[in-house]
Amino acid sequence: LLQLPLTIGGAVGAASATGVPATNARDDVFVVQGLLNNIDAAGGGASPKLVFDGLIGPLTVAAIRRFQQTQLGFQDGRVDPGQITIARLNVLAAVRCVRIHLKVLTNPTIPSATMITTMRRVFAQAAIGVELVSTQNLTLPLLNDLNVGSCPRGTTGPTTPDQDALFTNQDGIGPNEMAVYLVRSTIPPLNGCSTHPPGPFIRPGVTVVQAASAFTLAHEVAHVLGLDHLTTEAGCTTPDFNRLMTGCGTANITRLAPLLDATEIATLRSAAFLFAC
Ligand SMILES: [Zn+2]
Repeated sequence: LLQLPLTIGGAVGAASATGVPATNARDDVFVVQGLLNNIDAAGGGASPKLVFDGLIGPLTVAAIRRFQQTQLGFQDGRVDPGQITIARLNVLAAVRCVRIHLKVLTNPTIPSATMITTMRRVFAQAAIGVELVSTQNLTLPLLNDLNVGSCPRGTTGPTTPDQDALFTNQDGIGPNEMAVYLVRSTIPPLNGCSTHPPGPFIRPGVTVVQAASAFTLAHEVAHVLGLDHLTTEAGCTTPDFNRLMTGCGTANITRLAPLLDATEIATLRSAAFLFAC
């Protein structure tokens, strides 16, 4: 069938007519919930929105049935890989993609593959796919402890000479695709930094350090796509570790897939650095 941007590895939802249970792998359920939540009610989307928890239950199965009945004229409450329901979900949710190029100075303690998997899980709730386009190792010892200055979030500067030099390493990165520089550390010490030099010849991107959390990559890319920190944490006296955009340390996040609110999802989906996919 089609190559879909948001795919599932096994079935999600109810048992088949012959009684075969769906696998309901958690990452597959996240994908289906994210798709259903990004389709409006008139188009058969979840109404009310599902809790994005990756767990199958009666509300998610009912939402699958409602989508199928609205869009496909049947309902078995089950989304099978490579079949019509997952294909139609991708179309109706208007899935978009962010394209990532890894530039590795130092491999992070939490493997970059885990960071990408985590980012895919989180961004599925905005019906955004994550394409890892290339990985390149760079030997740049003088930039491995990168001076990032004040690191203004998600902006094109001011950048430091270190950042300007690092971001000239753009092999293979197309316009609006995203560079992710994996460095040993930053000066001052941060988990990551989303400041990037201005385009058009320098692509947008982020820096992630060796000691970063599993969520740092998703968090920093979200800054580049237009999200700022939560405004409700009162200088971290009331931190919200259920949310991707906590400003109080992504290492403290307690959910498998930290949440984005409706405003954040709308901002992400309207970002310039996304592709039809
Ligand atoms: Zn941040």
